[in-house]
Amino acid sequence: MIYFDNAATTSVNREVLNAFNDLCVKHYGNAASNHKYGQDSNRLLNMARDQILKLFNLDNDYQVIFTSGATESNNIAIKGVALAYQNRGKHLITTSVEHPSVLNAFKQLEEEFGFSLTILPVNESGCVNLDDLKNAMRNDTILVSIMHVNNEVGSVNDIEKMSEIIHCYPKCFFHSDTTQGITKIPLNYKSLDMFIASSHKLHGLKGSGMLILKKNIRPLPLFSGGGQEDNIRSGTNDVPRDVVLAKTMRLEMEKTNSNYEHVKEINNYLRKELLEIEEVVINSPNDASPYILNFSLTKHKASVVVEALSLHDIMVSTISACSSKKNEKSHVLTAMNKNITISSNTIRLSFDEANTIEEAKQFIQIFKNILNELR
Ligand code: PMP
Repeated sequence: MIYFDNAATTSVNREVLNAFNDLCVKHYGNAASNHKYGQDSNRLLNMARDQILKLFNLDNDYQVIFTSGATESNNIAIKGVALAYQNRGKHLITTSVEHPSVLNAFKQLEEEFGFSLTILPVNESGCVNLDDLKNAMRNDTILVSIMHVNNEVGSVNDIEKMSEIIHCYPKCFFHSDTTQGITKIPLNYKSLDMFIASSHKLHGLKGSGMLILKKNIRPLPLFSGGGQEDNIRSGTNDVPRDVVLAKTMRLEMEKTNSNYEHVKEINNYLRKELLEIEEVVINSPNDASPYILNFSLTKHKASVVVEALSLHDIMVSTISACSSKKNEKSHVLTAMNKNITISSNTIRLSFDEANTIEEAKQFIQIFKNILNELR
């Protein structure tokens, strides 16, 4: 199999899995139990939190909340914070190209809780214009959420410059959906008040993730319960799952630079080859994350080509995994001002360090054959 769908999910690292299995057997104590065995679990959890903060050069101003993944983390950050701080103001800002776990959380706050919402446009590269952000900020803005790396096309926002603009407003918090950038694209995480990770995008476990937030931020808990995770995310901790998240991220961050160079080489090769195919239009900007390469077809139906590739054991995605079953146009490409033919007919390739140039070569050959056969 050639697996070019790493933005949807990744393989599990054996080292992570072995550590998880070990912890399941050895440390099944409830971290909230008062006895010594439970407190051992709690100690492991806190060690994992400290390790994670160190990986991002964060001090004790921040804390780690373990969650089930990016969707939950985004919901806690957005709905939890908006609802908790609505007495300060009811204006929220996000962008038109966010993942549904961000966009729909904001829409719910607007439609069902009376917030006023500004959805920022993006330029043709899929990035937010700094002036648009500046102009949208108001004295009653309490939360801005702008993704770091876009999951469909890989556009990278200038989070650090945005932070300077947002933090001129002391009542406003800055959250970023960092799911596709974390451990891959360097960022000064101190520029953010809240950011997240999803383990299964990083060769970790599914159903595992985190929210990192400044300690002084107190989101309204979305679940009522026993008050675990500093009363931000109640429910008994899955200690082995949470503890191995630290390992998952450390293993990825040890390879950030070499992985980047490796996938860039694959991406560059594919971009060059695809550009030579008449009906291919590349959608990912030149300066996008090299982990993602998105293009459209102008003659063939992308879903038919993706199916044919799958029959050849090549796994790629149309739009993103979250919306590919709905058979609709991409909201990201629409926001990038692409016409309907382009925005409804996309293929996304997404890479990891296990992919090779040989795989890329094979992909191009089979892809060309498929286009010829379907003619
Ligand atoms: N945000 C982004 C940018 C994503 O790519 C994804 C995964 N498609 C998510 C959020 C949701 O992640 P999870 O599966 O961990 O809920």
